[in-house]
Amino acid sequence: MRSCDVVIIGAGPAGSSSAISLARLGYSVVLLDKEQFPREKLCGDFINPSNWPILRALGVDKEILARARQRVTGFRITTVAGDQAECPLPLTSAEPFGLGLSRAALDHILVEKAQGENVTVLQNCRIKRLTREDNPWHLEFDRAGTIETLRARMLIGADGRHSWVAHHLGLTRSADMRGRAVAFQLRLQCRGGFGDRVEIHLFPGGYVGLLGLGEDMINLCLAVDKDRLPDDQPFTRLLESRLPLNPHLKTILNRSEPAGELRSTYPVYFPPRHSYSDGVLLVGDAARVNEPVSGEGIYFALKSGLLAAETIDAAFRAGDFSAARLRAYETACRSEFRLRRGVNALIRTLIYRPALASPLIRFSVKRRRLLDSIVRTVCLPHAAR
Ligand SMILES: Cc1cc2nc3c(=O)[nH]c(=O)nc-3n(C[C@H](O)[C@H](O)[C@H](O)COP(=O)(O)OP(=O)(O)OC[C@H]3O[C@@H](n4cnc5c(N)ncnc54)[C@H](O)[C@@H]3O)c2cc1C
Repeated sequence: MRSCDVVIIGAGPAGSSSAISLARLGYSVVLLDKEQFPREKLCGDFINPSNWPILRALGVDKEILARARQRVTGFRITTVAGDQAECPLPLTSAEPFGLGLSRAALDHILVEKAQGENVTVLQNCRIKRLTREDNPWHLEFDRAGTIETLRARMLIGADGRHSWVAHHLGLTRSADMRGRAVAFQLRLQCRGGFGDRVEIHLFPGGYVGLLGLGEDMINLCLAVDKDRLPDDQPFTRLLESRLPLNPHLKTILNRSEPAGELRSTYPVYFPPRHSYSDGVLLVGDAARVNEPVSGEGIYFALKSGLLAAETIDAAFRAGDFSAARLRAYETACRSEFRLRRGVNALIRTLIYRPALASPLIRFSVKRRRLLDSIVRTVCLPHAAR
């Protein structure tokens, strides 16, 4: 049987950032994922400039810069009526641009960094059993056809929005499965390229996010109110008849061809889960998701991973893994994310209601300060605002 201080289930940005931080603090860490890396995943692929301080601290900034083909320096939002507002991203010398980079590349860089910090990374693992008796966690999993077992003092659930850990340990809320919107993602080959902006285009029932990835490749993500989703071949019908109602989007779609696998997920948003219990923390999407329109999910994942590592370090020092001690993590997340989550909740209220969003977008064409200050909150780290 393997034994370690901390086992982390899920090697996305949240799992990798907590693994790297805990390994640097001297803990033995096992990072386990059901996939083999590099692997793709549904995402808008926008690395928000707010991530730079964390990527630098994790020591992956140079590798990420070397791999990314698209720098992002502007934002544009458009409506079905043809209105559009745009602004530059609020960049500083420390946060000079955002990036368009596939999640296959980003997540693989982070996992390799974790391996370099002596984290044991186990891929292709299917969990069979998770129990906790007399403190340590006992995990049984199938790794490429072989059953293995593991014992750990602390558990981190970093297994994303459909978190098996959260469901298995009863940390979900009943509202989890009653989301309002469905998301789709598809890569497109766009003749003539796309430029250096991240773009949001409203359409009846939802919105599309577009981002260049370099070499004429773009990432299209959309979120649509599930009550307004066509019954039959929903994505094709949206792509062919609903999205082109936005004239700006139509122009881009007219010069684009699908160039990858279609992915989807539901629900897009659900309320935060209980992120701590005896001996366990949830990080990243396993604990809380945002409306993806603001492209902050990777930031929340990385940052919550760091905050979890701090709390776990304090728990080991005190020899106390009780929920009462681990609650400090939830408090730290609330305080760190309060403003961003507030702004995101406001955007979520508006973005599916064109009758409210469109006049505001028209208004922000005249009064740039409104759009500027929203983009500033979303794109700059706390210290730089
Ligand atoms: C439509 C859409 C667009 C988005 N666009 C952006 C964007 O442009 N920029 C941005 O910053 N954020 C974006 N996000 C959010 C972002 O994708 C997530 O917030 C981010 O991926 C969360 O990282 P994570 O590490 O918590 O989880 P994930 O990235 O989901 O990683 C979870 C990992 O756990 C593994 N796993 C799952 N279950 C198990 C299991 N049972 N056993 C073992 N391993 C398991 C998975 O294989 C995966 O590797 C978007 C989200 C949506 C829905």
